[in-house]
Amino acid sequence: MAVAGAPVAPADPVPTSPAPTTSPAPTTSPVPTTSPATTDTVTGTPTAQPTAGAAEPSPAESASTGPSTALSAAPTSAPAPSPSSGSTGATSAAALDALAAVPAQVEDDATKQLRTTASKVAALVVEVIQVVRDQQSATEATAAADSEAARAVAEQAATRAAQRVSVDQYANGRIPASALCELTFAAGAELRCDAAAAIEQLNAAYREKFGTDLAISDSYRSYASQVMCSRTKGSVCAQPGTSNHGLGKAVDLGAGAQWFGTAQHRWLLANAEAYGWTLPTWARAGGSKPEAWHWEYVD
Ligand SMILES: [Zn+2]
Repeated sequence: MAVAGAPVAPADPVPTSPAPTTSPAPTTSPVPTTSPATTDTVTGTPTAQPTAGAAEPSPAESASTGPSTALSAAPTSAPAPSPSSGSTGATSAAALDALAAVPAQVEDDATKQLRTTASKVAALVVEVIQVVRDQQSATEATAAADSEAARAVAEQAATRAAQRVSVDQYANGRIPASALCELTFAAGAELRCDAAAAIEQLNAAYREKFGTDLAISDSYRSYASQVMCSRTKGSVCAQPGTSNHGLGKAVDLGAGAQWFGTAQHRWLLANAEAYGWTLPTWARAGGSKPEAWHWEYVD
């Protein structure tokens, strides 16, 4: 076949050429553009090569020897292009290999260093990106939490306002049970729902301090109950139809909290107002009608 025969001629010189000269050429020849000058072919390359048998230097061979022979040809092969120069050519080729190996070595070190530095930079970039992302996430989480907290506060305020208004239509002592909220920690005790929610929170703090719930001895008091209270307890009970108990925003406490000076009473004086509950001025020690047990929700 004509195709099979064609490559034989150019391929033949390639394997016979010194191995060292072929290997560095493709990688180390930084300026292959100088080889086309083919100075060696002009100065008699065919004889300078040890494999002179290959009279026709293939393009690959001339390219591989291009940069090296450019240096060696002048002192060695150029003056004496005799057949004996074959050994000289081999020596120069080895020297050139050594020379070629130096820049290759330098370049390898530089490349290695560059690669190391590059990977360090890449790692740092990844680290910085992660830090920035973490900060963004933290900021977003904080903003979301703040937003959620603000929303919860606003919602609670709106709910309590609605609960407060919802009983405005009823006269003192005439609030139906459906408009009141029963306390979870005191069966049967009812208050206006916003006052109930507030005392639930106060009770949680109280229980954490004393290990027991607030003892509610009285809460919402219907008009009928106020009449009964007045009849049985006299001036201790408010004039029927005027007590804050009839508005669902007052409680009477017991279990130690009904006396001035007890640990429970002192704690309530110091903490209840944070939850919207207070001992009215008239009920305080020295007030117009001291009642240590009577606490009211401030709306
Ligand atoms: Zn009371």
